[in-house]
Amino acid sequence: MITLNSEKGLISVENWDDITSRPGFVANLNPREHTLKAVIGQYQFKEKIPCGLSNCHTPHNKGYIVSTEGGAETNIGKDCGRAYFGIEFENHARKYERDLADYENRLALHRFSFQIETIRELVHELRSGERGGDWCYKVAQPLHASNRGVPEIISRKIGAMLKAQQRVLSISRQATAAETEALEAVEGRPVPRPHTIEDPIAEIRGLDALDPENNLKQLLVLKIEEIKEFEGKEIDSMSSKELRQWAKWADTFDEALEKAQTAIVAHRALLTPENLEPSDIANFDAYLGRLTEPRGIPSGSRS
Ligand SMILES: [Zn+2]
Repeated sequence: MITLNSEKGLISVENWDDITSRPGFVANLNPREHTLKAVIGQYQFKEKIPCGLSNCHTPHNKGYIVSTEGGAETNIGKDCGRAYFGIEFENHARKYERDLADYENRLALHRFSFQIETIRELVHELRSGERGGDWCYKVAQPLHASNRGVPEIISRKIGAMLKAQQRVLSISRQATAAETEALEAVEGRPVPRPHTIEDPIAEIRGLDALDPENNLKQLLVLKIEEIKEFEGKEIDSMSSKELRQWAKWADTFDEALEKAQTAIVAHRALLTPENLEPSDIANFDAYLGRLTEPRGIPSGSRS
């Protein structure tokens, strides 16, 4: 497919015949008799197409469609463009590429505008309800923060597990004399006493929920608030740079929402007393008790 920048704006062309059948098309154009007016298209095909310049005709897989002041059009390779039309050609080629990028970015942003309402509805749904995103975020925070109702020994342990990408909860204890001797036998060297060993207690499911990239506040609240700034902008009066930046930004929403859904699943797996109750740790009960009372927290303002 070729996108042509014509007087009627950018139009898509499916095949090469659509180019050669255009009224001004010349398959044998003498560059000495013409002045370049614009680069109006760029093509890339599997088969090679002979260059349209009368003194060249080299077959190319890719090249440009150009128009001249006299109204003629032809196809040329990049090197020919440079050789026969110089810097002018390069400026026109850049302008064509910029116009095309602007056009595609504008199209993407208009499409995104139409999706905003749906995105907000989906986010509202994800945040609200029993064990919804808001509940998940609020209840998971204490697990890796200090003084938020989870015993320090647990929150510190979880912090260390996250850092080490470890999913098995283990508890340190002093090795028995027999264990230390057995270890010495395996390693073939003396082991200093007292020796500490880690006993695996349980595998914690859903610990990924606490990874920074699964932060539900970021994915479902802050990310959505960014839309307000976009809504204050006029797509059609954005500069090329703005179009590029906003189109790139709009492109991140699908991934963020998918990530949020996966993160909620992980939170729900994580936040059950069965999953978090591998041993008797004093004062953890109060926190675990909260997990079985999943009061739906209204998701507040639909930002
Ligand atoms: Zn050529």
